[in-house]
Amino acid sequence: MKKGINIELAKRVKDLPPYLFASIDRMKQDAVSKGVDLIDLSVGDPDIPTLEHIVRRMKIAVDNPRNHRYPSYEGMLPFRQAVADWYKRRFDVGLDPEKEVLSLIGSKEGIGHIPLAFINPGDVVLVPSPGYPVYPVAAIFAGGEGYSMPLLKGNRFLPDLKAVPQDVLQRARLMFINYPNNPTSATAPVEFYEDAVEFALRYNIIVCHDAAYSEIYYDNKQPLSFLQIPGAKEVGIEFHSLSKTYNMTGWRIGFAVGNARVIAGLGKIKTNLDSGIFQAIQEAGIEALETGDRLLSEIRHTYQERRDALYHGLKALGLDIELPEATFYLWSSVPKGFDSSSFVAYMLDKAGVLATPGNGFGAAGEGYVRFAMTVSVKRIKEAVERLKKVI
Ligand SMILES: *Cc1c(COP(=O)(O)O)cnc(C)c1O
Repeated sequence: MKKGINIELAKRVKDLPPYLFASIDRMKQDAVSKGVDLIDLSVGDPDIPTLEHIVRRMKIAVDNPRNHRYPSYEGMLPFRQAVADWYKRRFDVGLDPEKEVLSLIGSKEGIGHIPLAFINPGDVVLVPSPGYPVYPVAAIFAGGEGYSMPLLKGNRFLPDLKAVPQDVLQRARLMFINYPNNPTSATAPVEFYEDAVEFALRYNIIVCHDAAYSEIYYDNKQPLSFLQIPGAKEVGIEFHSLSKTYNMTGWRIGFAVGNARVIAGLGKIKTNLDSGIFQAIQEAGIEALETGDRLLSEIRHTYQERRDALYHGLKALGLDIELPEATFYLWSSVPKGFDSSSFVAYMLDKAGVLATPGNGFGAAGEGYVRFAMTVSVKRIKEAVERLKKVI
C-alpha cells in the first residue's frame, strides 16, 4: 500500500508572484524575539478601535434571532439603502440600492472575485504598480493575466493610460485604479477620472475604482468618487470599505456600487461562493454609515497630527517625500546606496523601525518604502529620533 497521495498545488497557485514580505516577516519575528522595542510602521490596519456607537449597535443586533439565519447574498436592503444614502450625502451620486449596490465581505472579497465574472483565459487585467497585491492575483486566479501600469513620481503616481501598448489593449477587459492610493498616498484629479472614462469607452474596458481610503484625507481636501464623473456609471464600479473609515478592518464589511450589469456579474459569482455578511454586522454597518461628521473629523485629526509629525521628521532627515493629502501612508524614496529591501533591513537593524519595502507592491515600487501611520504621535516622534541617529 502506498503511504499517501501526491499533493500538488494547482498551477494558478504555483504561478503566484513571489511573496516579497516573507524575509521582512522573518526579520520582524527575529527582532521581536530578541526583545527589540520595535516601532512597527508597516501595518495598514488602524490602531484606533471601532467607534463606540457601532459596537453598541452590534451587541444589540447579535441578540436578535432573526440575525442568526443565512443572510441574503446581495446584502440586506436597509444596508444597501444606507449605502445609497451615504453616497448621496457624501458625493451627490444617486444609486439604486437594489441594482447598483452590493454588499461585500470586505472590499478585498469583491476585488478578489470580480475577475471571475468578466475575465476569460488570455484576457488582461490592467493593474497599477505599485499597487494592492490582490489586483494581479485576482487576475491570475480567473485565468487571466495582470498588466502592470507603472505609477511614477513624474506623473504624480497616476498611470499613463496612453502608454499601454495596443496588443495589450486588445486583450484588456478590466482595469483597477485606486485613489487615494495605497501605497503612494497620491490622490487623483478629476481630469484623470475623465480620461479613464474615455479610455474605458474607447477600448471596452470595465473600470474598477478602489476607494477604500476616500474618507482618510487631510486639510479638508475631500477626495472624489469615480462615480461623480459623467459616464462613469456606464463603464464601471467603485469598491468601498468600512474598514479604514470606521476602524472596522476585523469586521469584514464593504460594498461595490455602480454599473448594474457589472454589479450583477459580481453578484452572480458571490451567490455561488458565499452566503453574504452576518446580518448583525450589516446592522452595525448601517450605524457606521450614519456616523456624524464630528467623529470622523476627530479620526482625521488624529491621522493629521501623525502625518505632520512623520512628514516633517523624515523631511528633516533629507528623505525625498511628498506631503500625503490622503490615506495613512507615507511613500518615501530610499537614500542613495539602498534599495527597498536593504533600506527596510537597515532601519530595522539600526533603529528598530519597521517599514514596508516598496517592491512588495510591484516592480515600480522598487526604490521606495511605505510608512504606515498606525501608531501614536509619540511613537512616530520616537521613530524619527532613532532614525536621525543613523540616516
Ligand atoms: C485595506 C484595503 C482594501 C480592503 O479592505 P477590506 O478590509 O477588505 O475592505 C482594499 N483596497 C486597498 C487599497 C486597501 O488598502
